[in-house]
Amino acid sequence: MLGEAVRNGRIAPLLVGGDHIELSHLQFADNTVLFCSPEIATIVNYKRLFWCFELMSGLSINFDKSNLISVNCANPRLVKTWKPIIDKVEQKLSLWKAKVLNKSGKLVLIKSILNSLPIYYLSLYKMPKAVADKLIALQRNFMWCKENGNYGIPMVKWELVQAPKKVGSLGVGDAVLRNTTLLFKWWWRFSKEDYPLWKKIVCSCNKLNPDVMLATQPLPVKGGPWKDICQLNIKEPRIRDKVIWNFQWRRELFQWELELVNQLHERLRPVKLSSGYTSGDLSAEITSYSFTSSIWKGFVPPRIELFGWFVLVGRVNTKEQLTKLGVNILGDSMCVLCTNELESVEHLFLRCEVTWQVWCKWLRSLGREWVIPGTIKEMLESWHGMHNRQQGQKMWMTVFFAVIWNIWLERNARASLEVIHTRTVMNYTEWRGGDLGGG
Ligand SMILES: [Zn+2]
Repeated sequence: MLGEAVRNGRIAPLLVGGDHIELSHLQFADNTVLFCSPEIATIVNYKRLFWCFELMSGLSINFDKSNLISVNCANPRLVKTWKPIIDKVEQKLSLWKAKVLNKSGKLVLIKSILNSLPIYYLSLYKMPKAVADKLIALQRNFMWCKENGNYGIPMVKWELVQAPKKVGSLGVGDAVLRNTTLLFKWWWRFSKEDYPLWKKIVCSCNKLNPDVMLATQPLPVKGGPWKDICQLNIKEPRIRDKVIWNFQWRRELFQWELELVNQLHERLRPVKLSSGYTSGDLSAEITSYSFTSSIWKGFVPPRIELFGWFVLVGRVNTKEQLTKLGVNILGDSMCVLCTNELESVEHLFLRCEVTWQVWCKWLRSLGREWVIPGTIKEMLESWHGMHNRQQGQKMWMTVFFAVIWNIWLERNARASLEVIHTRTVMNYTEWRGGDLGGG
């Protein structure tokens, strides 16, 4: 019907590009997109056609569910075009949710929001840097904010939260990287697909040769989304630094094999897709934590796993850490469990005499000899490597998490000398100065 109306000249189709490609309608599944230039006669005729369609088919068109969308009126380079996305993320990452969620819950929410960002925007338009920065700022504030909603101190670099769990990070994902990879898909489609309508239009509007690879063609003269797509560059630092070698294995690896994989990553790290570039510090830092990928097995609740990760990367707020950050209000850095040594991560979870006895008790009850590991990393590796079978691993890893978690709970419950003293002072003042009543 529409085709006939176009042929009769009742509907003036949109003429696109230098070749004047006629565009009147497109259909996807049960949706229809109609194109027309701002011309009263065509719009009225479209409406008449709908009525005819309703009468002929007995179906009714729901005009309330239809939208009028302008073409070429929104500029994806402007931040305001992206405002609906930012608003959506802002609304979903609202502070009251941050107050009721623990860190592991927050991570799940941040991840789900990144995955549900409209693919439509991300796969067509290059996200402006300001938008990407705003999105990351929203996620970071949400992740690290305190229980009262105030800004908190980040425990690790955001890059370490974004990269995949496989390489040692938390696997939240990165909207910029996602955007770029989705756009790169157009390079592939441009070379791969024969000459569909979209390609005709793109070639006509941007004066591109449909038979030549996009990467080798001169840039389109006028701006717009396609110029951005043609300009994509794997050498761009934001993208380049995040290229990580990713292997898929057919079965789960043994501990000794994980070590080999780590060595392979070490050797591959300086190897880049572009020449004249040496690996940055960041990917080195991330891959140095790749041994943590073995903890995400669901043996213990997610927030305990996450706590284990913070312990393994050495970012738990021990007194030593708080002193480094300059927020150790009490000024004392001694371990509350033994009161003998500086409270560092290694001390608290490994070397402290109290912790030590807990580890030993477990090993005795499981009938194992105690081999002194030097670091938390070696500790995890020896416990993880105690058993090759899934069931055995589950038992040993559960013990590992149970010990570090309870040491942390005990550490937080135990008040330091300073705190006990402060409490006695408070009671003293209250009882001396206050009216105890009773006469
Ligand atoms: Zn101690």
